[in-house]
Amino acid sequence: MKVKIQETHLTGIAISQGIAIGIPFFFAVIEDSIPEKHVPEEALEGEIDRFRKAVNRCRLDIQKLQAQLEMENAIEAVAILDTHIHIMSDPLLNENVEQEIRNRRKNADFIFKELSLRYQEKFKAMPDAFFRERVLDLQDIGRRIIAYLCEQQHVSLSEIPEGSIVFSRDLAASDVAEVKGSAVLAFVTETGGATSHAAIVAKAKGIPYIASVDFGLIEQVTPEMAIVDGNKGVIILNPAISTLEMYEGRKQEQNQFYHALEKTSFLQPETVDGHQMRLSANIEMVNEIEMVHRYGAGGVGLFRSEYLFLSQQDFPSEEEQFAIYKSIVKKMNGLPIVIRTFDVGGDKLMPQQQASYKRNPYLGCRAIRFLLQEKEIFKTQLRAILRASIYGNVKIMFPMVIGISELLEAKKMVEESKQELKKSGKKVPEKIKIGCMIEVPSAAVVADLLAQECDFLSIGTNDLVQYTLAADRGNQSSSVQYLPTHPAVIRLIKLVVTHANRFGIPVAVCGEIAADPKFTPLLMGLGISELSVTSRSLPIIKNAIRNVSILEVSQLADRILTLKTPEEVEECLLAYPNSII
Ligand code: PEP
Ligand code: MG
Repeated sequence: MKVKIQETHLTGIAISQGIAIGIPFFFAVIEDSIPEKHVPEEALEGEIDRFRKAVNRCRLDIQKLQAQLEMENAIEAVAILDTHIHIMSDPLLNENVEQEIRNRRKNADFIFKELSLRYQEKFKAMPDAFFRERVLDLQDIGRRIIAYLCEQQHVSLSEIPEGSIVFSRDLAASDVAEVKGSAVLAFVTETGGATSHAAIVAKAKGIPYIASVDFGLIEQVTPEMAIVDGNKGVIILNPAISTLEMYEGRKQEQNQFYHALEKTSFLQPETVDGHQMRLSANIEMVNEIEMVHRYGAGGVGLFRSEYLFLSQQDFPSEEEQFAIYKSIVKKMNGLPIVIRTFDVGGDKLMPQQQASYKRNPYLGCRAIRFLLQEKEIFKTQLRAILRASIYGNVKIMFPMVIGISELLEAKKMVEESKQELKKSGKKVPEKIKIGCMIEVPSAAVVADLLAQECDFLSIGTNDLVQYTLAADRGNQSSSVQYLPTHPAVIRLIKLVVTHANRFGIPVAVCGEIAADPKFTPLLMGLGISELSVTSRSLPIIKNAIRNVSILEVSQLADRILTLKTPEEVEECLLAYPNSII
């Protein structure tokens, strides 16, 4: 029997910020008991047709959802749903279902459910994060198709009561994407990491989300109310009146604060003592440029070009890429844009790479390694970028470089691409700025060598933390020590700045910590000159910059560099007077 409990605190990993107070809603994946039915020979084609129609209706649902998301500007979510359409259209899956219906003479819903479970089991057994995350996509799509086959309405988060806090063991991207208005105030899940598709969509929609929560207790109790503190990763079940009042106050303050911040987009990102920072946006899609301008970014510090093509069968041609880059560059109205060359591999595989998928993909042929191995793909992209660069202020950046040899080889590719274009009579820029990402400890250690060979460095802390601490960024369970506050990470950032300063080139940070205001004073104090963040975080980071003096944050950084543990660093950052949340 379930029991009612007193105020109870649970903790998890905060992966989308904000505070929510609402009614718990337990969102279970429907495990329909689908009957196994015999289908007579003459009805087989009709059964197959029923299956095809169900798939088509799902495709239409998802396309409608994409249109809604585009209007809400949740662009990453649109890209993720492209993956769902891609899986649904997979000829192998569809052919297998149809063949089994014919061979076994069973009903489509029964066959499809069986096959979809088989696929899920296969994916679950694979050790890599990429495949584990595809299991959620498969479940999501499977649920929809079965609902249509069984003539049920798809159970969706768009129909749940207003003001709900959704508790679910796991969450698929399209569940999150379907949420409308204020129906869902927050998500709490047992599985999931900050880089799961569901997390990316929740962030894009501004919905607080806490993952890696132990559901053991929750299942035995009947909470009537819950508070989700997505800033701290805390869930409070059945809060006492005093706790509730405190959080209502905090929430109101936070809302007012965000509201006021949005009006500051015209202000400069400068400190109280007049030190100018550069504040730029990270983007994945062309239509994000509108938000970049709305929130007053100084440019795009990271364009993750691979997101444009991840769900496609093949790499796009030079002409296709040129058209996209040119359109983005023109929309920048002269502001700088850093185009990062494809970072595929790791957990970002194109369909044709998945067959040759290896263990430890993060340590394998990813990013610049892949590009230097697949030189034609690399040069095609470089030619397209070079051609587009004459329409604005474009810089090229290479991902996951581990040392000088890769950087020199990549630069040589840029030079060769330029010559090829010139020979064919195309216009190319005389000089294009080249930057190098620092995402691997080895690159940080030899940043002096890299700094002599490029125009800027940009620290990708999402990966730098992962590779420094041997902690998978996509699997942030409590046992994995993925801690950006680790002194080793902070010392590496300092080292990169020191090296870059010697050669007079700027250093940016474009990983997720740049969008966390708790880190802003520290990063500035360490000498970072540019922060590049997701568009929704621009106002809050600008505010964090405008609240500090460069003198004081330098002292803070010096103090933090003497600390010994991630916990001490965390405490010091949270205690800093300008820390916002
Ligand atoms: C990073 O690693 O911090 C980064 C910005 O790159 P991505 O998140 O695309 O790997
Ligand atoms: Mg990275």
